[in-house]
Amino acid sequence: MNLAQSLDSVSGLECRWDTDLTNFSTFRMRSQGDLIIVKTEAALAVLLRTLKSAARSWRMLGWGANQVLAPQESDLLIQLDFTHDSEILSVARDEYDLPASVGLNLLTTHAIKFGTKGWEALTGIPASLGGAIFMNAGTALGEIGAIVKRVRLMNSDGLIREEIITPQSFKYRKNTFVQKDEVIIGAVLFHHGLDVSLPDKIRKYQEYRRQTQPLATKNCGCVFKNAAPARQAGRLIDLTGLKGLTVGALRVSHKHANFMENAGGAAATDFLEITRLINQQMNLHWGVAFELEVKAV
Ligand SMILES: Cc1cc2nc3c(=O)[nH]c(=O)nc-3n(C[C@H](O)[C@H](O)[C@H](O)COP(=O)(O)OP(=O)(O)OC[C@H]3O[C@@H](n4cnc5c(N)ncnc54)[C@H](O)[C@@H]3O)c2cc1C
Repeated sequence: MNLAQSLDSVSGLECRWDTDLTNFSTFRMRSQGDLIIVKTEAALAVLLRTLKSAARSWRMLGWGANQVLAPQESDLLIQLDFTHDSEILSVARDEYDLPASVGLNLLTTHAIKFGTKGWEALTGIPASLGGAIFMNAGTALGEIGAIVKRVRLMNSDGLIREEIITPQSFKYRKNTFVQKDEVIIGAVLFHHGLDVSLPDKIRKYQEYRRQTQPLATKNCGCVFKNAAPARQAGRLIDLTGLKGLTVGALRVSHKHANFMENAGGAAATDFLEITRLINQQMNLHWGVAFELEVKAV
């Protein structure tokens, strides 16, 4: 039996074989491949066990806000679409048990309403909760790691474990606890008290981001990790005069030099070329090469 025959009839799985994936990342890179949208934990367990026995490679796709998809994806992509009880975010509470597919925008809306301290760190980050935890997403106002208490994970045998978060669980833009072939399926969040000034702080930061980032364009957020506070990628790319540098349909943003904008139709090959050119110039002018923050296969 092939994969499609094994998986098409599994309840809770929406299988899209050899489909157009272009609209599944915020960067909108041209891409084609297999995608399975998963509605329940039980269906995820069946899927992971089946993929393991078929030796098929896969990876997780959240909102695709930090991924450069390949023209032809060889990994099967898995996206979670678990339902969540909207009651959970309707009042301020000590703990919030949420599925990994919840969007951070809902968490920011909650923080604006109730002033949940620590949650301001998530302002403006387009992400699913699972993708944000995997990346330890954060802003100048903090990181998601500071408001995560426990994380639930499923392994490739469909077994579930819980990770208790400690100060060692997160580093800059990464976690230290998700093992190979594990999926974050949910997390328990908390806050550091309620703060009436928080909504104002969040709104101001949202405005600041609108002014400084090309949010209306097709992009993947910051492309490079900062090497050090004094070696910020955006600043050095700007100082080198590379704003506006274009390869195919990809351009270094005029608004923020660590962002790249896809005018439409760009492919991962354009991305590899433009990042290679930038790092060549960085090496020449500053003796530094920036590591990618975005995940590019
Ligand atoms: C306009 C814009 C602004 C941005 N601003 C910021 C910012 O201020 N700060 C910041 O940190 N980031 C920022 N980003 C990047 C991006 O939003 C974050 O990296 C975010 O965490 C990605 O979440 P995602 O759900 O889209 O995950 P994806 O990009 O789809 O995946 C990211 C990684 O997580 C893995 N993953 C996803 N879901 C799971 C899961 N359930 N279990 C296990 N692994 C999983 C994926 O396999 C991949 O390796 C920005 C992006 C854009 C487009």
